Amino acid sequence: MFQISELANYRLCKRCSGRIFAYHYHGISNLERGEYLQFAIGCETGNPDFSFVDSKNCDICHGIFDRFDDIYDLVAKKVGDAQYSTFLVGSVFPQDTIRMEEDIQKKFGSSGESIKKEFNREFGKYFSARTGKEYSQDNPDLTILVNAEYLFVDVKIRSIYIYGKYRKFRRDMPQTRWIHRPNGDTVESVIGSVFTRYAGGTNYYLHGSGREDVDVRMLGNGREFVLEVENPRYREFELDPVVKEINTSGKGVEIFDVKFSSHDAVSEVKLEKHRKVYDALVVSDRPIDESRLLEACINLTGKNIYQRTPLRVAQRRSDLVRTRRIDQVDLVGVSANEAEILISAEAGTYIKELVNGDGGRTRPSLSEMYGSPLNVKELDVIKICRGED
Ligand SMILES: [Zn+2]
Repeated sequence: MFQISELANYRLCKRCSGRIFAYHYHGISNLERGEYLQFAIGCETGNPDFSFVDSKNCDICHGIFDRFDDIYDLVAKKVGDAQYSTFLVGSVFPQDTIRMEEDIQKKFGSSGESIKKEFNREFGKYFSARTGKEYSQDNPDLTILVNAEYLFVDVKIRSIYIYGKYRKFRRDMPQTRWIHRPNGDTVESVIGSVFTRYAGGTNYYLHGSGREDVDVRMLGNGREFVLEVENPRYREFELDPVVKEINTSGKGVEIFDVKFSSHDAVSEVKLEKHRKVYDALVVSDRPIDESRLLEACINLTGKNIYQRTPLRVAQRRSDLVRTRRIDQVDLVGVSANEAEILISAEAGTYIKELVNGDGGRTRPSLSEMYGSPLNVKELDVIKICRGED
């Protein structure tokens, strides 16, 4: 057992002494607990003038609880005019301090709270009172991290997320920026750069619901995406002018059904798998036999095909054989060496390989059914079957 008066052997302030007994007597602050302890020690030792050390001389807190004004100024400077409505406070204290506090608390019955916990709560209350913003553990707009040892702060502004659908009218545009090809338009840069400017952000990422090849146009009802803008100064702004600017930029990308969304939408959009309808311009090195091609299309309709990872993507994807259902293959028309074909296929089907057979890696293929080599010259996604219409 311990005696309260043993607390006088440490250089502790009133608050840090009170915190040792934080889980005794609820409804009062650690500072008030310290007040009672000071009185009790005075009685126990017969020294009515006993007092704990000033906070600035305290071995645990070194007066950090008296520096809220300074810390607030540091945070305000970092946040600038960024918009936020909720915030969270975290803090870093020196390991030695944490350990010393734990040792003392253990000696006095282990019913205390940590300095970190009290600091985060008390600075949170102070910050909320000064800003009128709401303290929130759950997904705060602003996260404040205070380094209590060196008195500096880090702030993190949560990204904003914008959901939408895009159409792409070009055959020379990748969906996302490539590390090895940082210049040149991408769907991501055309959309992301404009939103980032409106949001006053620092960077952006486009999370697409799948992707089309660089040379494939994305038409029809569009592809879903969620755009993430990092470190936004503005969390809410009119979307119509942004959409209009992107759609009239002449960059070959159009967006629609745009709305503010959340981080959860990223994985939702990425996990979606939908059947797609393609319009393919197919070529042969000799004039196409229409009736033979028509028969090949009919034969492929409703078939399950076996598709080994195409050679052209084998570096990026694991080498597997996948089964894919081809729902419908319709011959639209034939002109000399070319034919237009509509293909409806399960999500994840490689259409170019479905047509050319990829050297036997896709079976059966349209070329195999037709009896001589066919290749895709131009390909458009014309519908993603999301079941919304
Ligand atoms: Zn203290």
